[in-house]
Amino acid sequence: MIRNSLIGLGLALAALVGVLLYNTFNYGGAPVGGRVTLPEPPAISAERGAENLAAAIRFKTVTLASGDPRPGQDGEWLALHAWLEATYPAAHAAMTKELVPNTLTLLYTWPGSDPSLKPLLLMAHQDVVPVNIGTEGDWTGGPFDGEIIDGYIYGRGAIDDKGSLVGLMEAAEALATSGFQPKRTVLFMFGHDEEVSGSGAEAGVALLKSRGVAPEFALDEGFMVLNPSPLTGKPMGFIGIAEKGYVTLDVVATGAGGHSSTPPRDSSAVRLARAVVALDENQMPSALDKPPASDMFRAAGKDMPFAQRMAFANLWLFKGVIEGQLADVPAGNAMIRTTTAPTMLAGSAKENVLAQRATATVNFRIHPANTEDEIIAHVTKVTSGIEGVSVELGKEGIRGKGASAVSPTNNRAYAVLASVAEATLPGSPAAPGLVLGATDGRYAEAITPNVYRFQPSLLTPEELTGFHGTNERTSVENMGRLARGYAQIILAMDAPE
Ligand SMILES: [Zn+2]
Repeated sequence: MIRNSLIGLGLALAALVGVLLYNTFNYGGAPVGGRVTLPEPPAISAERGAENLAAAIRFKTVTLASGDPRPGQDGEWLALHAWLEATYPAAHAAMTKELVPNTLTLLYTWPGSDPSLKPLLLMAHQDVVPVNIGTEGDWTGGPFDGEIIDGYIYGRGAIDDKGSLVGLMEAAEALATSGFQPKRTVLFMFGHDEEVSGSGAEAGVALLKSRGVAPEFALDEGFMVLNPSPLTGKPMGFIGIAEKGYVTLDVVATGAGGHSSTPPRDSSAVRLARAVVALDENQMPSALDKPPASDMFRAAGKDMPFAQRMAFANLWLFKGVIEGQLADVPAGNAMIRTTTAPTMLAGSAKENVLAQRATATVNFRIHPANTEDEIIAHVTKVTSGIEGVSVELGKEGIRGKGASAVSPTNNRAYAVLASVAEATLPGSPAAPGLVLGATDGRYAEAITPNVYRFQPSLLTPEELTGFHGTNERTSVENMGRLARGYAQIILAMDAPE
């Protein structure tokens, strides 16, 4: 009997190993989404693009706070508009230009010859974040000088997001010069206040909606080709198919106040602390097995080391292990779930006074798998066992913004973008991804279900620290990649399917 059950166990183990290996070798073999043969782009000069990005950086289109730029402080934006017109004459001859009413947001229309084709909406933003006072000297090239040093253009906006804006205009100029006339209408929208969650792009999308415009897809910033990708250690392109939302809640503990010389054991401050710890220990559930994460891991599968690939290929067995490892890395955790970030704590106003009301402000970044109401329910449940604790909407009851919808990967738009991403650095696979910050692209959801976030450029993780940081820069080569990539996107979407 013992011998028989050992044989049985051995056979079961062999079968298990067989299943694990079968799943592993079959995991991530095929890319997510289709691919297309890309058309030849027109002649592009990376150097010219680099010089023009340097010039665009010199316009200090800095937004600091909601409502910027203030009336009378729009000079840098208007100068940028005039510079665009002077620098891209062929593009301006081919397209009509307008300002979205009551904003500095630019909308260009390149009318297509076939009105039955839905237009393309290609987006970038004109404004940039400020440079922290006192850090200007840490830059290799001045943040607003537009210097090109050793093959890199330095300055605020180089990657966020004037590189895209200039890349789009370079593509339009090259296409117009080559005699290209689109069948499908091409729209460029350049928001003026993205960095302060402004209303320019939102108003622009509303304007398009009022005209009955429903684009085939909208493309904005958000992802690029990363070398190396933290997922595989190898270069990999990411196409953002969704972005997170946010909501801020106040967790409030109330209790008797009084003098701190005779404190109770379970004061409001102590109970608030307990609530904060409970929220940290009870995170929102992971959405590891739902898109975008599931698709992203599958697309990365063929480039993963064997053990990692085996784990992802056999989620039924290793889900807990993978979740644990991803949760240990802040960016990994943010990819797979709604994050919980206690940011502001408040109690009494004086050291010897007990708090009658202690509050913790907690900022949540909402994963597309969750809604704001689910988060409120989660927080209420987790803190329900703690006496005198309630949950309120933060900032005087202002609701947040839900996560975006998840855009499909089974259409021509995604196939074209993934093909362009893979051509940016041949040999690097493209995968769908979740954008952790907010972009203007989310507004485009009002007029198209196909919203993507991708720039055809190649960055290292170190260069990514330039986003809103010191030494923001991009390579001269990237300006060639951006212009070529955007031109190929326009051409590939114009070609008959
Ligand atoms: Zn940006």
